[in-house]
Order: sequence, then C-alpha cells, then structure tokens
Amino acid sequence: MIIEAIKQAQRVLIIGHPRPDGDCIGAGLTVWHICKKHGKLVDFACDSPAPSHFSFVPNFEACFTEPSGVYDLAIAVDCADDLRVGKYIGYFKKARVSINIDHHRTNNRFAAHNFVFPEASSTCEVLFDLLYETGEIDADCAYWLMVGLSTDTGHFMHSNTTPHTFEVAQKLTAFGLELNKISDYLYKNNTREKTKLIARAIESMRFFADGKICLITIMDSDLAECGCVLSDTEGLIDYGMMIGSVDVAVCITEQKNAFKASFRSKTVDVAAAATVFGGGGHQKAAGCTVCGKYEDVVRKVVKSITDGMSF
Ligand code: 5GP
Ligand code: MN
Repeated sequence: MIIEAIKQAQRVLIIGHPRPDGDCIGAGLTVWHICKKHGKLVDFACDSPAPSHFSFVPNFEACFTEPSGVYDLAIAVDCADDLRVGKYIGYFKKARVSINIDHHRTNNRFAAHNFVFPEASSTCEVLFDLLYETGEIDADCAYWLMVGLSTDTGHFMHSNTTPHTFEVAQKLTAFGLELNKISDYLYKNNTREKTKLIARAIESMRFFADGKICLITIMDSDLAECGCVLSDTEGLIDYGMMIGSVDVAVCITEQKNAFKASFRSKTVDVAAAATVFGGGGHQKAAGCTVCGKYEDVVRKVVKSITDGMSF
C-alpha cells in the first residue's frame, strides 16, 4: 500500500520527530530515497536542528528541508503521536493521504493509514518488513535501515532485539554493508567537546531509591561551558545505565521554562512514568517534557518512577 501511495503522489512529505535519532533519520531517508527513485518531489522535515553526529549518514542534509504548500502524501516515521510530529502537524493533516509508520506501543494511530508494530525493534525494522518483498530496498536503503536497527537496539543489546531483528540485520548486511564502518561512525566518533560533557554528566549524577535511580542533569551552562549543543546530550543517559545497581536512569536537560526528561530502565515501566507528564515511548526507553523549577521537576520525576517500582 505504501509503494502504491507513493506511486500515485506527486509531492510527498516525510516527517520525523524533534531531536531526530538514528531510527527516525534511517527510516525517513529510506522512504525519501524510494520516493526519489519513483521521480517524486519529496521533502523530509524534522522539527529540530540537524544533529551533527549523524552527518556521516549519506544524504543527511535531506532531513532538514522546509515544507511548503499542500502534499499529496505525508508519511510520519518513528512518531508515536501527533505531538511528536511537532510544528509540521498542519502539513501532515492537510495532505490528501497520510501514513504513520512506527513501533511505539503508545502510538495513537493519528494518520489515515497506520503501520504500527510495537513488537518491532525499530521503525527501520517495520519499514524493512513492509518493503523487503516489494524489491524497493537497495544497498543505500540497507545502510540507513541498519543505522536505525543498530541505534534503537543499543547495537543489538536492548530487550527489543529479537531473532527477527537479527534476520533483518542479516538481510541488510547481505547488501554488502561494512558494519564495522557504520559502528565506528555511530559509537567511536565523539568530539572532544562531547567527551567533556560526558564528564559533566557523570559528575552531576544523583541517586535515589537506594541507588536504583540515577539522575543526570545537564543545564544550558554545561552545554555552553563544554562547547556543546543540545543534540550532544544523546547517549549521556547510558552512563547511568552502566552502573550495576541502577535500574532506572533519567537525564534531565534544561529547556526554555521546562526540562526534557529521558528515561531508560532495566525492569521498571518508564513509559508509564513519562505518560504522567504527557510524554511516552517504550517500557524501557521513554521521554517527556516537565515544566517547573529544577528541584520540583526532580521530585516529580523521581516520584513518577518510584510509583511504578515494587520494593
Ligand atoms: P529519548 O530519551 O532518546 O529522547 O527517547 C526515548 C524514547 O522515548 C523514544 O522512543 C522516543 O520516541 C520517546 N520519547 C522521547 N521524548 C518523548 C516525548 O516527549 N513524547 C513521547 N510521546 N515520546 C517521547
Ligand atoms: Mn524508534
């Protein structure tokens, strides 16, 4: 149906979520490339500045075009709900046909056609399953899909990694991918500035609930003093998760009049905690934005987690 919809359209808009991650960029560029191959006029927009650590991805700059006018077809990738589509929701709603491709359990089926598979590791895995048989996946797509598969599974370490994920990875590598090169770009590519920010993040750690919760805080001043930007906060939360006694790690980042909270968990359902603040995500990786003063935000966020913990 997706390929049919692309064939019938002249202008296509692909939308990813704000602070686009590897899954969103990988899935979006795959759809973008297929649209291009079919000779379509296509924009791919994300409501955020370009995260420079993904600039190695071929055609990366395509992610950040500005939409205009009315589209025949709009496709949202990796967006759990209309809020995650961000400021481009108007273009999405106005398009003649709308498609939502995603893997979030909290997805609220906001499009006319919804392809939502919560058991899939990533939106890239969903996309692979939807398109592989059509023959539309080529070596370029395989590269982008692998970026999404690898990043959303924590390089095949998270619990969302299934036997099927490895089947998909096997078929993708069969296109001739140099997986070690992709991995070097993804995981051995920090700037020295980011490395300073990692040190800040580790120094900022606070512990709650007998050390089961680790809270990392990044203020604007930390970013400025380390020479970093907001997208450099990606992955800082993992340093909390690396501590054996920690079940839940939270990374709180200062925004205008609010804090963005990222959650990761080994057992507790953190999607439930994020939902308290109007956010969402997955059981073991979720996020939200919390308004208020720093210490109040910390108290509320910690409570949202301990409420879901059994002692
Ligand atoms: P991250 O912490 O990497 O920003 O996000 C982790 C997970 O939570 C991702 O699956 C992401 O889609 C989801 N997520 C992050 N922030 C939000 C948010 O504000 N709202 C919703 N619904 N999901 C979010
Ligand atoms: Mn995803």
